[in-house]
Parts: sequence; structure tokens; C-alpha cells
Amino acid sequence: MNRRVRVRFAPSPTGALHIGGVRTALYNYLFAKHHGGDFILRIEDTDSQRFVPGAEDYIMESLKWCGIKIDEGVAEGGPHAPYRQSERRAIYLKYAEQLVASGNAYYAFDSAETLDNMRKEAEANGQTFAYNYQVRNQLETSLKLSDSEVKERIARGDQWVIRFKMPENENVEMDDIIRGHITINTSTLDDKVLYKSADALPTYHLANIVDDHLMEISHVIRGEEWLPSLPLHYLLYRSLGWSDSQPEFAHLPLLLKPQGQGKLSKRDGDKFGFPVFPLFWTAPDGSTAIGYREEGYFPEAFINMLALLGWNPGTEQEIFSMQELIDIFSLEKVSKSGARFNHEKAKWFNAQYLRHKSDQELGAMLLPLLAKAGINTTAERANKAVSLIKERATFPAELVDLTNYMFVAPTSYDEKSVNKFWKPENVENLKLMAKEIEKCAKIDEKETETAIHEWIVANSLSMGQLMNTLRIAIIGISQGPSIFAICEFIGKDETLKRINKAIETIG
Ligand code: GLU
Repeated sequence: MNRRVRVRFAPSPTGALHIGGVRTALYNYLFAKHHGGDFILRIEDTDSQRFVPGAEDYIMESLKWCGIKIDEGVAEGGPHAPYRQSERRAIYLKYAEQLVASGNAYYAFDSAETLDNMRKEAEANGQTFAYNYQVRNQLETSLKLSDSEVKERIARGDQWVIRFKMPENENVEMDDIIRGHITINTSTLDDKVLYKSADALPTYHLANIVDDHLMEISHVIRGEEWLPSLPLHYLLYRSLGWSDSQPEFAHLPLLLKPQGQGKLSKRDGDKFGFPVFPLFWTAPDGSTAIGYREEGYFPEAFINMLALLGWNPGTEQEIFSMQELIDIFSLEKVSKSGARFNHEKAKWFNAQYLRHKSDQELGAMLLPLLAKAGINTTAERANKAVSLIKERATFPAELVDLTNYMFVAPTSYDEKSVNKFWKPENVENLKLMAKEIEKCAKIDEKETETAIHEWIVANSLSMGQLMNTLRIAIIGISQGPSIFAICEFIGKDETLKRINKAIETIG
């Protein structure tokens, strides 16, 4: 690549950032860093009607949580500041005017009412109205009006827009890194608005192209929903004389619903019970949505999961650190077809990251959770406790339930376990086992286990029945990690106490 790689993530602050948007940001970031390039955050807020307060901060906080570092952006600044389009409004008009002067765009004065009527008329005839080469010459545009009429109408304050004059019946030849070569005939396209006098702001199309050019963007990596805009963007580059330096394009596949077809939508979170946003979100109307962070996902797990939704490393490896992703990411390995979101897989990733954390790290998470549950212990005991159960947890919040019985004796016993194993014969043998345990100086996981196993075999007792009966007495249920590890953790006195208590309580 002979050009410096510069990519941008260009969200519009219209609400919480959907995980599809986070994936777009991630792929941009991985691509930029793989090539030693720059990742730019540009806020595209020229649509004042859709602007949502708080959305911009939410976007920045989300990227930060994910570990996506911004080289240039609204908060970071940079050589092309400002990076918020509403603060760049003075830039765009001259390009719109340049397009009019070169015959690639025109002024249109049609009122909202005129356009509405035309839309209704078309609908009545079973058609959809398109503002295109077939109608533009009959409408109130600079294509029909004389120069002096146009000047006069602008001068007297009539509202106008500048529309792109889409060529008639021309094949636009385009290339997409993921999708390959694409040809579209312009007669299928309409004349998009580029600039509006009403708010003295460009629309997305013009601002996006001008800024990508001025910010020297080398690659545009964005969602598939922008593919229909690509011919217009190609033609805008050409009309502005920038074809030679226009960026390369890559349109990412959609994130699909867990079942069946269709794009994963903002409302699917409520519907299917998993987050579709990285962080908890409170909308201006007070409504809220759950987020991955608050649900207990680790950012590394979240990123790992997202990276694999639409990109394939070409090997069986599934666990990747951000640096590993940067090292091997390529757009050529992004698939064309949509990637189905899988909530179970997201949880699986989290469990993998949880079990690879050190006992110290997890112990530090557990301590305050225990304290909240009224259990005070030392860091050392908390570290040891998590080491016994970390393979069983998916989220940090589960650690407290999984270790609770290591600090307090069970107050109730699982009914199913009791019905299955708490039989008179097993209870009698448990009493005998307690006597064997008493003989040990202290409980040691391996030594005591060996001694008790030998005793069981010597007395021709059932290992499974007896171990589960012991388990019920110690932790209240016939499942869980190594029972002798737990006995060692709670100590000999507590072990014997729990056996006696269970015998008294259950009978
Ligand atoms: N502002 C657009 C969006 O919200 C950016 C699309 C693009 O990357 O060109 O997705």
C-alpha cells in the first residue's frame, strides 16, 4: 500500500451505538492498526432532526470501554479538526456551489407541499415518486428557471436545496474490497439533496465525501446499508475532480437476528433478552436499555466475540487478544453474507476470559461482592475460593453464589439431591466416615481423599452414594467442585460441624 492508511468511524449521534456499529468501529480500528495507520472518529451530526443529546458521549465511552483508541477525533483533536460536522458547516457550501457551477448539481425550489402532492399522485397510480432525470426539468429548478430568476429567488429568501444531477443511463463501475466489482446503471437512481438552505447544512452524502477527502481517508469501511449510496459517492468524487485520491471501499455484512433472517435491530435486545448495546443506555425520554458492560461482560470477551461475527481468521483459533486481532486482521477475510448473532456464544467467550483471569484478579472482584452479602474474609481466602470454582462461572456476579457455601454453612438442602441420596444407609455410613475424618490431623484435599477412598473400598461401600451424601452435608447440594478441596478450605472442625448439622436438620 503506497498511501498512509487512514480510516474513520463516522457515526451519527442518533441514539445508543448498536453492537453492529461497534463492530464497524472495531474492523476500522483493526485494519488501521494492522497497517500502522490512523483511526479517526468523526461525528456526523448534520441531521439536526435526528440528533439525540448524550449519544456522542455514549459513543466515545463505548469505544473507550472496548479498548479502541482514537488517534484523531472530537475529544482528541488532530490536524483536521474540528471532527464534528456541525462545527464544520462553513466548509461545505462552496463544494455544493462548485458542483452547480460544473453542471453536476442544481438548485431546486420545490416546496414540501409540491413534493408531497407528487408523491401522493404517484402512489395513487401505484408508483413510487422519484426525484430524477424524468421529472427534474419540469420542476422548480435552476435547470428550468433562468439564471436571473434563480438569483432573484435566492436573494428574496426563498428556500432552496442543491440536488445532485444524476447522469441518465450511465453505468457506474465500482470496486468493493469485500464484494468485488459492482456495476449500477444511473437511471435507477434519484437526485439526492446535497445541501439545504433551511438549516444551512449539507446532507450526509456531501458532508461525508467532502470530509473523507479533506481528512485524507484512504479506506471507507462501513455497514452494508450504505452500499446503495456508493454510486452517488463515486460520482461525487468524480464531479469534484477527486477520483484519483478517492478512498477504497469495504461494505461489511449485516449482523443478523439469532434466529431466521433479518438485521439485528435495536429492539431485539428486549425481545430476545440479551444486550444489543455495549453500555447501559438511558434515552432522553427516560427509557433504558441493558448493556454488555453492566451485564458483566469483559470488554476483551465482547471484542473477541464481535471480531468473529463476519470475519474468519481461517483457522480453528477462537480466542484472540486485541493485539492478535490487529496482527492477523484483513478485509479479504470478511464474509459477504450476514453473520448471525449468537447469545450463547457471547456468554461462552465471557466464561473463557473469566477462567483465564488470575485468582488475584477474580478474588478482588469477589471480595466486595461477598462483603455486600455480609461475608467478610481475607483477600487470600477469596483468591483461594475463586480458584476452586472459576471454571463454573460466566459472569463475575456469579462468583458470590458459587463460593457462598465456602464461607457459610448451608441453611437449606436441595430437595432433589436429598431425595436421591439422603437414605438411612448412606447417613449411617456418613457418620462412620466422620469418624475416619476425625482421625486425620487436618484435612488435605489429596491425602484425605485418598484415605477416605481407601476406607470406602475396604468396607465395600458405594463411592457415588457416599460422596454425594457428604456433598449434601457440606454444601447443601450434590454438585460442585471437588468436595475434599472444599473440606480443606473450610477446615476439619467446620467439616465435622456441617456433617452433624445436616444429620440433625435433615434427619
Ligand atoms: N454517518 C453515517 C452513519 O451513521 C456514516 C456512514 C459512512 O460510514 O459513510 O453510519
